[in-house]
Amino acid sequence: MDREARKTDKQNPKQAICASCGKEVVEGEYIEYQGRILCADCYLAELEENVDIGAQDSCGAG
Ligand SMILES: [Zn+2]
Repeated sequence: MDREARKTDKQNPKQAICASCGKEVVEGEYIEYQGRILCADCYLAELEENVDIGAQDSCGAG
């Protein structure tokens, strides 16, 4: 009797690298912000920066 041991079914957390500081982060510890992966620290920093910029209009260039 053969039992199929499915050990590969283990769920691994997604790993990513912070686009700002290069820190290694796993799913739940990073935030996807404007298509970029940011760690919590850099995410907050980006938010503050964006709050500062209010009068500047963003171009439609993608
Ligand atoms: Zn970071």
